[in-house]
Amino acid sequence: MRVLRAQPGMEFDVVAGGRVWHSVIAGITGDSVRFNLIAEVKADPALPVTLLLSVFKFDRMEWAIEKATELGGDRIVPVIARRSEKHLAQAAAGRVERWRRVALEASKQARRSDVLQVDDPLPLKAALSGEIQAVRLVLAEQERSTTLHHALGEALAASGDETPPIWMAVGPEGGWTPEEEAMFDAESWKPVSLGPRILRVETAAITAMAVAAALLE
Ligand code: SAM
Repeated sequence: MRVLRAQPGMEFDVVAGGRVWHSVIAGITGDSVRFNLIAEVKADPALPVTLLLSVFKFDRMEWAIEKATELGGDRIVPVIARRSEKHLAQAAAGRVERWRRVALEASKQARRSDVLQVDDPLPLKAALSGEIQAVRLVLAEQERSTTLHHALGEALAASGDETPPIWMAVGPEGGWTPEEEAMFDAESWKPVSLGPRILRVETAAITAMAVAAALLE
């Protein structure tokens, strides 16, 4: 009231009960303002998609974070994989604030009502032990029979009306090691393909997000 010198008749977007409303001030009494909620402003929630993104070249990683935000992703967990370049792995923790700023700017640009969350970088093993209720899919270029589209479509059909959280993991430029593949297997992650061609990490991340968005929206 004080900062904006609020007066009856002024219009604002107001968050009420977890929804955004275009509103007009109906009256001001003492310290309280009464709003008339005119119309709900459509604010799409994030898609329930978490990307485990192996740390890779920072300029491309920023690009991937920006695009994943535009496509509606909920969260990115930067992962230190066995074949992540050493100097990038060491510098990753110091980059997180910048990645968060990239996500914030991209969220605003995409007119999101929320901001994609970027976690602190984690070693792969620690990152895998998260959300056990989630559909867990590991992008693997060696996988030939099951596509991401098919596996995710099936998982969503099986889950009925309630959309489950979806976790997808993208490997580093050198790919996953056999030990990491075994680790995914032990944690019940399903290997999935994005087709017969080898994609760069950022292409794989954005394609995976786009496939998920197409199935979820
Ligand atoms: N080691 C590979 C090579 O040079 O033969 C390349 C790894 S690729 C650049 C990096 C990551 O992108 C992979 O670990 C995987 O997660 C993902 N990826 C790339 N192409 C893919 C595909 N066709 N299907 C599924 N995942 C893919």
